[in-house]
Amino acid sequence: MELNLTPLNLTGEQEVRPVVIAGPCSAETEEQVMNTANGLAKKGVKLFRAGIWKPRTKPGGFEGIGEEGIAWMQRVQKELHMKVCTEVATHAHVEAALKAGIDVLWIGARTVANPFAMQEIADSLKGVDVPVLVKNPVNPDLELWIGGLQRINQAGITRLGVIHRGFSTYEKKIYRNLPMWHIPIELRRRCPNLPIICDPSHIGGARELVAPLCQQAMDLGFDGLIIESHCNPDAAWSDAKQQVTPDVLDFILDKLVIRNITESTESLDTLRQQIDEIDNSLIELLAKRMRISREIGQYKKEHDMTVVQTMRYTEILDKRGAQGVLCGMDADFIKAVFENIHEESVRQQMDVMNKD
Ligand code: PEP
Ligand code: MN
Repeated sequence: MELNLTPLNLTGEQEVRPVVIAGPCSAETEEQVMNTANGLAKKGVKLFRAGIWKPRTKPGGFEGIGEEGIAWMQRVQKELHMKVCTEVATHAHVEAALKAGIDVLWIGARTVANPFAMQEIADSLKGVDVPVLVKNPVNPDLELWIGGLQRINQAGITRLGVIHRGFSTYEKKIYRNLPMWHIPIELRRRCPNLPIICDPSHIGGARELVAPLCQQAMDLGFDGLIIESHCNPDAAWSDAKQQVTPDVLDFILDKLVIRNITESTESLDTLRQQIDEIDNSLIELLAKRMRISREIGQYKKEHDMTVVQTMRYTEILDKRGAQGVLCGMDADFIKAVFENIHEESVRQQMDVMNKD
């Protein structure tokens, strides 16, 4: 994909990997912004994030402090010499942010999913030199992500980067948003000079997942991290569960192992990540299958039926074996897998039967 890019250079200084952007999900009060920024500045963080306009799933929640928060960001710039970043979603947001001298703009996942909104933002950015970070759209659609990048790039923005924040899923998983690492990896393959920043806070949705996700992003050769950090995370007005204190953030960054980007290990890591992801999906699918087995067990119990019904079992083994061979696997291997699955399924059904 052809994008006209110039170095992102967010800090204005010589950049080392990873570039770190940190700050609260939302700017809440002047005190919260200054306390958090102070804590982060002491740890050497140079890029401060805070959402001023917040896209919330349902109305009635905290939808951001609005323009009042801009003056707080300006205090962070002046007093702590940090660069400040915020999310823009409309023409009015872009105008207000640019007028106030916000250093870096990002476009949120819900906005990137909407080409009308992306075009509106792109039109507002014409003739401006500001770095823009485009989050992945909420849905796992690489073309939509690329389309959004092209719109912003065509408006003349060359200091462009992306934020990988994971993809929405209906089913409850360990992650708030599935990482689906293969999508940013494919983006890197198609556009090798486009910096990728990982957002472990929105992928994980939980404090304890921030550190491992940061490490995975580094192992994949990503360029930076955007991490939600709050002076008092439990009291945060949005995304409380995923925010960490500046001290914890410093600890996480300190423990990160930053490996040299070399082609051979990077591609091995990439493949291993894909294996991990597939194994996770396999376990989740098996668990789903077992839940259905338990429902079948309940039905059989209520209708006085026996657990093992031989004809159905033989049919499953035959059909799956044939399917497996069509997909290039050994028939005995598939048979063994399904015998084991069936055994656990029977155990689950017996368990339901034996409950009062
Ligand atoms: C955020 O960064 O606080 C945010 C709203 O993120 P996303 O657009 O990824 O949901
Ligand atoms: Mn958030």
